[in-house]
Amino acid sequence: MIPSFTISERSQHYLGLEAQYGAHNYHPLPVVLERGEGVFLWDVDGKRYYDFLSGYSAVNQGHCHPRIIASLIEQAKRLTLTSRAFYNNLLGEYEQFITGYFGYDKVLPMNTGVEAVETALKLCRHWAYLVKGVPENAAKIIVCSNNFHGRTLNVISFSTDPTARKNFGPYMAGYEVIPYNNLTALEQALQDKNVAGFLVEPIQGEAGVVVPDEGYLSKAYQYCKDANVLFIADEIQTGLARTGKMLACDHENVRPDILILGKALSGGTLPISAVLADDEIMLTIKPGEHGSTYGGNPLACKVAITSLQVLKDEKMAENAVAMGQLLRDGITAIQSPYLSIVRGKGLLNAIVIKHTDPEAAWDLCLTLKENGLLAKPTHGDKIRFAPPLTITAAQVNDCVAIIQKSLEQAFS
Ligand code: PLP
Repeated sequence: MIPSFTISERSQHYLGLEAQYGAHNYHPLPVVLERGEGVFLWDVDGKRYYDFLSGYSAVNQGHCHPRIIASLIEQAKRLTLTSRAFYNNLLGEYEQFITGYFGYDKVLPMNTGVEAVETALKLCRHWAYLVKGVPENAAKIIVCSNNFHGRTLNVISFSTDPTARKNFGPYMAGYEVIPYNNLTALEQALQDKNVAGFLVEPIQGEAGVVVPDEGYLSKAYQYCKDANVLFIADEIQTGLARTGKMLACDHENVRPDILILGKALSGGTLPISAVLADDEIMLTIKPGEHGSTYGGNPLACKVAITSLQVLKDEKMAENAVAMGQLLRDGITAIQSPYLSIVRGKGLLNAIVIKHTDPEAAWDLCLTLKENGLLAKPTHGDKIRFAPPLTITAAQVNDCVAIIQKSLEQAFS
């Protein structure tokens, strides 16, 4: 059984404040962090940890990346927000930069990931009515079971996770849920002439890093094309070099009709998200039909440009390929009866714990924390391993040793 770990008085103080004054909508690991640099985090007692969550893949570039922080500070001293009531000198530059970077006609800037998902869904419905000719209020969007696209009422309406959904109804209509990684189900669902779009995560992150079969994305894309349906990729977690390509869809040479980005677009400094599409789709939205006070603010524009530049300049996709392989090879070589699966692509990975105790993954994460590595279970028995993309081979080897030691200790 797991040894009971003590939590310092200092940490207890912060845990107590959150418990007393904050909503209880999260269940964090009992560690209180106060500093980050690269792949490392430090707690309030000065203990150092490897970060194997990277803020749910928002910190791909590493904590407090010097170039991103320099952009943030420099721009914060000049101009932070104008609203879209006026022009600013950075929005157009950013729009030119990001559309060139990903090869789309237009971008619509938002803030959090779920706002970008909402934006993509609105765009898809607008396109269905104004371009495809679907009768008003009849548009349908196909989504996958075990999806995670955020927390708004609309988005949880098509979640299949009872925890995310229960007692939040009534739910938004207009969605059909099909099994993930199932082309027959997609083909069938596409028979309906009122289908406007197919929303998909190229790898399901929150579900426990579920990688679909090779060819799934490219075939799904082709089926959508044949049915005149928009292929909408939520690359909020899989994008921006995390899986070893700039986009996870790049592994299958798929160019989504609507591309949704978030998280690492700011390297973990600000909520910055974006929706990219070509004119036929994007120009269906007219002034006043959609917007956001903070979307496209000059501070975000500057930070996003630098965050994207850093990914390419420092060859983070290439490093994710090499370090991801090293990590999976290292974990696969660990002999443990409690380790059932290691899976993933690039540096988006997960292990599945095999144990009769439903708390086993949580207990292992507590042991990993004690040994200097921070990770969090997702959906019970799965633990995501997704360090910043700057991690080195020596650091990966060090982490594999920590994982091995923790597996031995946690269940001894
Ligand atoms: N979509 C995916 C695939 C995600 O992983 C997440 C967050 O984890 C979201 C959307 C929601 O992003 P946010 O929490 O910034 O709203």
